[in-house]
Amino acid sequence: MRVLLTGGAGYIGSHTAIALLARGHRVVVLDDLVNASEVALERAARIAGAEIPLVVGDAADVDLVRSVLREHRIDAVIHFAGLKAVGESVAEPLRYYGVNLGTAIGTLQAMAAEGVERFVFSSSATVYEQPGPLLREDAPVGIALENPYGRTKAMIESIVTDAAAADGRLQAALLRYFNPVGAHESGDIGEDPKGIPNNLMPYIAQVAAGERERLRVFGDDYDTPDGTGVRDYIHVVDLAEGHVAALEALAPGVLTVNLGTGQGATVLEVLRAFERAVGRELPFEVVDRRPGDAAVSTADPSRAHEVLGWRARRTLDDAVRDAWRWQSRNPRGYRG
Ligand code: NAD
Ligand code: UDP
Repeated sequence: MRVLLTGGAGYIGSHTAIALLARGHRVVVLDDLVNASEVALERAARIAGAEIPLVVGDAADVDLVRSVLREHRIDAVIHFAGLKAVGESVAEPLRYYGVNLGTAIGTLQAMAAEGVERFVFSSSATVYEQPGPLLREDAPVGIALENPYGRTKAMIESIVTDAAAADGRLQAALLRYFNPVGAHESGDIGEDPKGIPNNLMPYIAQVAAGERERLRVFGDDYDTPDGTGVRDYIHVVDLAEGHVAALEALAPGVLTVNLGTGQGATVLEVLRAFERAVGRELPFEVVDRRPGDAAVSTADPSRAHEVLGWRARRTLDDAVRDAWRWQSRNPRGYRG
């Protein structure tokens, strides 16, 4: 298939481009580069040994998306474009609603106008109203969530569902990612957060690289094995392969699937895994809980296996090793 990746220059999109090309699909990226670098795509193209044309522009611009769909004779769209910083979404809700809803609606409108029927959406475990262990896809999803970012994801899921109800030709997948981590095993592409990382893994990577003094562990009094928060960390290359499987399994209607491993790890277990990869201890201190954080969030990944024939194959140690290879080879990310 010829696949358009909106937001495809970003962390998950660039890895997905490689996975698609490895399966013989063709890839075009539309990205406004607000949180990405062209260098990521140049490197992804080199790794894949194929071209990845980049159109720099806004995925909310219906005319632009239409022209890309037409010009490249696109069969399917994977919609990664959007803003993803939870804290920033609390401070700038209008920007988050504008970009996240605007790009989803604009892309869907362009697809309808051009007769493109396949749509895969980057949703998130954050849509679940009640986080917890082994979440199933039929657990309640709400817009009564903690933050505007999560609400945009739940709203877009509803928008896609309504669009599919109105147009029986639409074939959509809502992929609920758990915690994507790691990097391509080449060490050439990976996560490149701007400023101070919000997420655990890139933060530890910067501590390991000596760029941050110590990890702050947000609370050790949760009801978990060591008191620190539990998450389901999924290697970004497994996640990328999940997109390929979802694309190839599309059928009319909406398919909703968790992409996670089903395994939980605590903050301290992630830190220990990183220490093993780096070969030395890393400094940390325990501070107060971060407001809005759940004790536990892990996926029941069985539907993905049943419906997509996909399951995560890589371990947390694999992810940490690959994240460290990327971080140590590219201490300034794509800037340097
Ligand atoms: P990312 O920021 O690296 O990628 C998003 C891309 O979208 C960036 O390249 C950015 O430049 C682009 N973009 C933003 N606004 C745009 C616009 N108006 N038009 C075109 N492009 C635009 O983030 P990521 O981690 O690769 O996440 C990809 C998707 O997955 C996002 O929708 C995110 O919300 C979702 N997601 C991410 C995580 C995670 O932890 N990384 C978890 C769950 C869901
Ligand atoms: N966390 C932490 N220190 C940090 C960043 C995160 O202790 O600097 C914890 C956080 O409380 C959670 C886990 O690490 O238990 C994963 O957090 P992240 O922000 O990466 O993902 P999310 O909270 O979105 O699942």
